[in-house]
Amino acid sequence: MIPLFQPDMPTADELVPYLRQMDHDKWYTNFGPRLASFEELLAQQFNVNRSKIVTLTSATAGLTVALRLSLSKLRKTGSPFRQNFTCLLPAWTFVASAQAVLEAGGQPIFCDVDPVSGALTPSLVEEYLQNSNNPHPDIIMPVAPFGAEIDVRLWDEFSEEKSIPVVVDAAASFCSLTPGNSPAVVSLHATKIFGVGEGGFVVTKDIALAKRIREYTTFGFCGRRVAGVQGGNYKLSEYHAAVGLAQFDRFLTIKSKNLKSRERYVKALSEIPNVRLLKGEAGKYATTFNVIVENLLAKDVVRNLKNAGIDAGIWWEDILPQNPLFNSLSRNNISMFPVSASLYTQVLGVPFSPFLSEFDIKKVAIKLKHISESGS
Ligand SMILES: *Cc1c(COP(=O)(O)O)cnc(C)c1O
Repeated sequence: MIPLFQPDMPTADELVPYLRQMDHDKWYTNFGPRLASFEELLAQQFNVNRSKIVTLTSATAGLTVALRLSLSKLRKTGSPFRQNFTCLLPAWTFVASAQAVLEAGGQPIFCDVDPVSGALTPSLVEEYLQNSNNPHPDIIMPVAPFGAEIDVRLWDEFSEEKSIPVVVDAAASFCSLTPGNSPAVVSLHATKIFGVGEGGFVVTKDIALAKRIREYTTFGFCGRRVAGVQGGNYKLSEYHAAVGLAQFDRFLTIKSKNLKSRERYVKALSEIPNVRLLKGEAGKYATTFNVIVENLLAKDVVRNLKNAGIDAGIWWEDILPQNPLFNSLSRNNISMFPVSASLYTQVLGVPFSPFLSEFDIKKVAIKLKHISESGS
């Protein structure tokens, strides 16, 4: 079976130098030297100062914390966080975006996405806001699907104009995110382009917000070991930071292998009728490769590919507006979001990894062509 996905992680040998440092300094978590170096490199990657980067245990945790803190600018005693707020999400996204809203104490509400990029855009939200039948969002969470480009500064402008805070789910966009004031959350999960196992970070040019997010990740400690605000434990350990440092050592290679596989795919798929790509799929750095099958159902194509020894899959299988968990406002129905409905039924991930041979990629393309031409 040609595998759907293979993570590109450091080998044991590549990790050893960093693990030896830990043998030596016996510092395993709580903001040790490896976390400091890792955050410094992340800051350089995004062209910001380290005070604007906060690492944490996952992107989902980062989204949850960023939602909470973006909605409570003022510190109060007791539970300072707003409950039952509404968060406007793209109807087509990964389940983690909506779970983070529930985790933060809010209710997801949905908006359809752009057919070319598959993303929520300021103009779609503008349209949403103009319809007075739509519930008003207390906060907005745009999502960059599958590592798409996202410029947070455009959302900052929109956020200011509408006086609605924005938290960006840029989980897979390590290589294509331009930070702004609104917090953007990136995942370091092993399935993403820059994996450390489990982990994530928030990047925001709002230093005060970054500081509050940092405090939240470490028991609400504000400078000393006394809790000044509500918080939990969301710290990234030195082990994870060590993997992060080893990943930075090999990051140029990760990127060039990724791009090479992607270019081969784009070429192999270019002549298949009824198969199209989302905007930006060709040039980005991401661990997934998705295609849109225009005259077929993605689940049928997945089944046919699997029968031919090719592991395909639907990465975003949970149709969020249809899942009762995310549907308590009960106005949600996937048919209200025609673009998202078509993406849920027509987007599938084909096998993609830097370890795929050109031969395997051609095999996938030929099978896909065959399936799309025979209409089944
Ligand atoms: C991967 C992903 C997440 C979840 O990231 P974790 O680090 O695993 O919590 C959230 N949203 C999107 C769009 C993702 O692709």
